Amino acid sequence: SQLRGYASASPAPTAAFAGHKGSNGKYVVTLIPGDGIGPEISESVKNIYSAANVPIDWEEVSVTPVLKGGKTVIPESAITSVRKNTVALKGPLATPIGKGHVSLNLTLRRTFNLFANVRPCVSIQGFKTPYDDVNTVLIRENTEGEYSGIEHEIVDGVVQSIKLITWDASERVARYAFHYAQSTGRKRVTAVHKANIMKMSDGMFLSACRQVSKEFPDITYDEDLLDRVCLQVVQNPQPYSNRVMVMPNLYGDILSDMCAGLIGGLGLTPSGNIGRDASIFEAVHGSAPDIAGKGLANPTALLLSSLMMLRHMNLNEYATKIESAALKTIAEGKAITGDLGGKASTTEYTNAIISKL
Ligand code: NAD
Repeated sequence: SQLRGYASASPAPTAAFAGHKGSNGKYVVTLIPGDGIGPEISESVKNIYSAANVPIDWEEVSVTPVLKGGKTVIPESAITSVRKNTVALKGPLATPIGKGHVSLNLTLRRTFNLFANVRPCVSIQGFKTPYDDVNTVLIRENTEGEYSGIEHEIVDGVVQSIKLITWDASERVARYAFHYAQSTGRKRVTAVHKANIMKMSDGMFLSACRQVSKEFPDITYDEDLLDRVCLQVVQNPQPYSNRVMVMPNLYGDILSDMCAGLIGGLGLTPSGNIGRDASIFEAVHGSAPDIAGKGLANPTALLLSSLMMLRHMNLNEYATKIESAALKTIAEGKAITGDLGGKASTTEYTNAIISKL
């Protein structure tokens, strides 16, 4: 269809979503507006949802770290809210570089065991990029790898960072990737790795993927080296269409930003962090401190993340309606934000979407 969009890119249903309804029958969803451009783009999503009459009440919480027992932690009220509602939409959270508190993103992923990070990368029809047929989904292991946070200085001038890979986490994300492929009609799962160098850690990740692949005879399974995938994807993304690529944590982080570049940048790429007890949806991008507070941010990535959330909640008709209005607005090109080559403010773009609902 003309508005191909993200229909085939919503996360596969998990046992996790039970949802929490308020006394008015509407779902209650935790909203973490976040830092930098977070509050501006969250406001945009809230306004669009309200205009589209989406049956959701937002429970807004802050995750500004608090000091507890000498450690900086996420406030208990935020944790309780996500645990109760089982689904959350989150703006970007700034992480201090090289010092300061641990990443709150990592803390949220660990607290709720959000083991799979789903990052669809789909060309936005009507928005001109070198390729108009990118349609791939990256699934990133979300709990370990280089993100385990185990770092120490062995002796002065020598630091060791541990890359942790476990069979259980590898098997779990592999199984999710195959289920995702099956439920979204994608025919191939590719495990992306560097097992030529990291023979034991990535080697075990691959063994887990291979074992899980046997449970899914209808889906083709193959393996590809990360560096080769990077080269091939930028030269010709077409062969990667209709695939799911599954990989250890850090590779997914980097490859997904590269894939975002192929479809028009970070302003357009959504993601979902999927766990068994809760799922948190967020844009791939960060808090964009360079444009924060100026009304320039593109809210599309957070909006598309929220549409993945709606599909996860089986509120598909609202997702389709909003998606179609957003894609029409981008294709029309009259009210698009600066990162897409336009001149519109966040509010003007938001209002253009609302006028097409
Ligand atoms: P960034 O994604 O915030 O910004 C990179 C570039 O993309 C900037 O030029 C920015 O202006 C632009 N950009 C990003 N989102 C945009 C949008 N919606 N509209 C228009 N332009 C947009 O990456 P960064 O500068 O490396 O990181 C800033 C902070 O965000 C850091 O503290 C980092 O740790 C954090 N971060 C958080 C998350 C998260 O919460 N999931 C993810 C990535 C980075």
